[in-house]
Amino acid sequence: MARIVMKFGGTSVADLDRIKNVARHVKREVDAGHEVAVVVSAMSGKTNELVGWVQNMPKVVGANSPFYDAREYDAVVASGEQVTAGLLAIALQAMDINARSWQGWQISIRTDNAHGAARIQEIDGADIVKRMGEGQVAVIAGFQGIGPDNRIATLGRGGSDTSAVAVAAAVKADRCDIYTDVDGVYTTDPRIVPQARRLKKIAFEEMLEMASLGAKVLQVRSVELAMVHKVRTFVRSSFEDPDAPGMGDFLNPPGTLICDEDEIVEQEVVTGIAYAKDEAQISLRRLADRPGVSAAIFGPLAESHINVDMIVQNISEDGSKTDMTFTVPSGDVDKAIKVLGDNKEKIGYDVVQNESGLVKVSVIGIGMRSHAGVAATAFKALADKGINIKAITTSEIKISILIDGPYAELAVRTLHSCYGLDKN
Ligand code: ADP
Ligand code: ASP
Ligand code: MG
Repeated sequence: MARIVMKFGGTSVADLDRIKNVARHVKREVDAGHEVAVVVSAMSGKTNELVGWVQNMPKVVGANSPFYDAREYDAVVASGEQVTAGLLAIALQAMDINARSWQGWQISIRTDNAHGAARIQEIDGADIVKRMGEGQVAVIAGFQGIGPDNRIATLGRGGSDTSAVAVAAAVKADRCDIYTDVDGVYTTDPRIVPQARRLKKIAFEEMLEMASLGAKVLQVRSVELAMVHKVRTFVRSSFEDPDAPGMGDFLNPPGTLICDEDEIVEQEVVTGIAYAKDEAQISLRRLADRPGVSAAIFGPLAESHINVDMIVQNISEDGSKTDMTFTVPSGDVDKAIKVLGDNKEKIGYDVVQNESGLVKVSVIGIGMRSHAGVAATAFKALADKGINIKAITTSEIKISILIDGPYAELAVRTLHSCYGLDKN
């Protein structure tokens, strides 16, 4: 007998029939004698609808400002998960399984105060463990917890993955299964590249990079938690027949295991390609080339919670003026330009230029640490397709390349095949 946390994403619970299918997956594990807790997302499309309502409310009232109270955003958007948790508990009860739904505050899942993007700080697993011992299945609403202000706090988009891994760590589960609409983690998004290959295993560090560079199959924070707490996490499909052979295999369930790199016997140089759309580039021209200028630019941007990514500073020709270029999410361009404008005197530049609709494609692999020439291969492959590179950043295990938006899919496909990742 083992202890398993099962998480089901939005498409897996999109309607009542799919919730019934999810209940069959849960029943399979319960019937096998395992202790089970379940974490659910809102029904597919629900969270987007709720976010849309929140964003429209001030406009409908004719408010001067488009801003709204983040605590009320959380009160609204957390409701989607509540519905699914209740519906799944009903489905399980109808299959004679002892099940009960729980919201984040009831568990309780304690978070920090960052409404809309809160981080889990503590979960008391004792009560769930006790109920598991009594044969009860806890069906927990994902994506939500309760903040120090005693109000519902949500964990950022895709946050149910993080709820699941955090619950798994809290109850010391033997496994955390993330059920989704693909049957594992692929070498790149299988919806963009049909030749993508499913990975049997992927190292925590690589999955962290893939997720933070755009592969939304797992929320970044869930991978961090799995890595820190050593949670054995599998990504697998909810769409397969719950009773198909091998589905209940405890040690080797179908899907991709996220694990320590030493568990991976044959490490490829490149493991995967990720991409992030809607990047924007901002350039400050004829900037004073003096100590403190970067702090004068990026300090105020950070204070305004603008996430700056790639930074390129040109070498100054005459030792007095230079150019600085960096990227931010497209949605933050207006705010960034305003912040730079407000600080123009202090920073000291001539003009600010910007370009939106760019895409960042990234090549990821732990094998890069010990192999030369990985970046050169990417640059040549993109050049052969006539794709212009606007900026580059690298780390030990990744290369990120900024390009024009319309070339996104071509670039991802090109990089995927130039490293031999296409399935034969
Ligand atoms: P859920 O609603 O179950 O949380 P998500 O939509 O958040 O599901 O994540 C699953 C999606 O992630 C897949 O449908 C797929 O298009 C996308 N994806 C992006 N990159 C990858 C990848 N490398 N491997 C698998 N899926 C990926
Ligand atoms: N329902 C939330 C979202 O769409 C959380 C999740 O699905 O993980 O972002
Ligand atoms: Mg998700």
